[in-house]
Amino acid sequence: MTRIMEYVLLFGTTLMQAGSAMNDLPTIIHDLSPDGPGSIVIEDPATSRTVGRVPDSSLEGWNEALAAASAAGPAWSARSSRERSDILHECVRVLLENRDDLARTITLEMGKPVAESQAEVDYAVDYIRWYAEEAVRPAGDYRADPKGGSAIITTRAPVGLALLIAPWNFPMAMATRKIAPALAAGCTAVVKPAELTPLTTYLVVRLMIRAGVPEDAVRVVTTTDPAAMSASMMADPRVRKVSFTGSTGVGAVLLGQAAPRIMRTSMELGGNAPLIVFDDADLERAVDGAFAAKMRNGGQSCVAANRILVQDGIADAFVDGLAERFDGMVLGHGLEEGTTLGPVIDARAVRRIGELVEDALDRGAVEVTAERDLPDEGHFVAPSLLDRVDTDARISSTEIFGPVAAVSRFSDPEQALAIANDTPHGLAAYVFTESLERAFDTAERLETGMVGINRGVISNVAAPFGGVKTSGIGREGSSEGIEEYQEIRYLNLDRRR
Ligand code: NAD
Repeated sequence: MTRIMEYVLLFGTTLMQAGSAMNDLPTIIHDLSPDGPGSIVIEDPATSRTVGRVPDSSLEGWNEALAAASAAGPAWSARSSRERSDILHECVRVLLENRDDLARTITLEMGKPVAESQAEVDYAVDYIRWYAEEAVRPAGDYRADPKGGSAIITTRAPVGLALLIAPWNFPMAMATRKIAPALAAGCTAVVKPAELTPLTTYLVVRLMIRAGVPEDAVRVVTTTDPAAMSASMMADPRVRKVSFTGSTGVGAVLLGQAAPRIMRTSMELGGNAPLIVFDDADLERAVDGAFAAKMRNGGQSCVAANRILVQDGIADAFVDGLAERFDGMVLGHGLEEGTTLGPVIDARAVRRIGELVEDALDRGAVEVTAERDLPDEGHFVAPSLLDRVDTDARISSTEIFGPVAAVSRFSDPEQALAIANDTPHGLAAYVFTESLERAFDTAERLETGMVGINRGVISNVAAPFGGVKTSGIGREGSSEGIEEYQEIRYLNLDRRR
């Protein structure tokens, strides 16, 4: 069976168009909806060509999905935790068997180089493996009553139907980071991927169903009117939990909608990560770490280093080293061999990033990286390093979400810490120093949920991922992640003799 046939069978729909979207590049086209007004067209950000169509659901579609996932709840939560765990382990196997197709789908709809997409598949699958393991961990405990005369028993019950809303930047990992703990805890879910990148989520859920997840336990809905969809679902008493990853503005809207029903919420929101390089840092480690923290996912990450603060004594060498790495990047289609930087997500992002760069240059920033030609089509932004950025420039207070680095220099460590904390956001931060004392002192005083010390990549399934301040509420990953989908119940047993 050819690969294209396999896709037709997997999706159970007709193939819109086989062949290649770019000369020489094999392309898979997912057609989940007929052409016309009821469809969302998915474009390859590197070519602007159509790579798929998914349904543009309205109220009827959302209600049908909600009813189905709600009806599937009692049977799924009644399964033993070992059964749920076994099914999730089987999902790991099936998803990894389809690793290449998943990775190519991510690249086609989101743009990142396929090697990064493969890394995302591995990372995303790791969440399922982790929660397959967490599913069977003790869900409750026994505590002595300090006064005697009774026993305190706690149990953990699934919170119920969860609405899971995901962003476009990690189409697979942001979905599995929610779906896996929800299923492990015994919840069913309605998943709403971003309208720019829904194909990966559809494919993941199809494969999970093939691996044994009941058909209606996870339902995917796509819509071009997410505000109306969430307003309707959030008001529905069957929805007991919302887990959202996306911008702080939308998170605030959802929290407002959750309030009247006192709904359980998890919010993984925007960041503005500072990355501080002190004079005593190991230069190579700092350059490597900053490059990874800035350029992973083409800079389109909530934990991307947004403000790189470098102490005067090391600044020249650091900027030279980082600029060399930027200049070495190869722009192109993510499926093309050798590409290390794909496009940004859409034309709006190109414009937005351009305006931030212009404002920084107007305020005295210096462009250090070489000029280069961009591909003729697609939404490309050249990798660019701006030095001596004014910390009052808009680029310092806005998520750049693209391959542009903003370096500001400082002399006094206290000044760096004050700048780092001068933001309403508090997701991630990075510190580079060879002094253990300075590392701990700085990490403890940074107002963020996560701190990388001499490292630029901090995402890890075993770690509690999440922010403070306007970056969110709750944690994903680790043992904390499953608690977001559980209600604690306390039983008090009379033990008087
Ligand atoms: P976004 O907020 O525009 O969209 C995220 C999701 O919310 C999408 O599925 C979208 O369709 C949906 N949405 C939009 N408006 C809505 C509404 N009114 N009601 C309900 N749903 C709505 O964000 P984005 O542009 O897709 O993603 C980028 C943002 O996500 C950045 O701010 C980034 O920092 C953040 N992010 C955070 C994390 C984290 O773990 N903290 C991870 C990845 C991305």
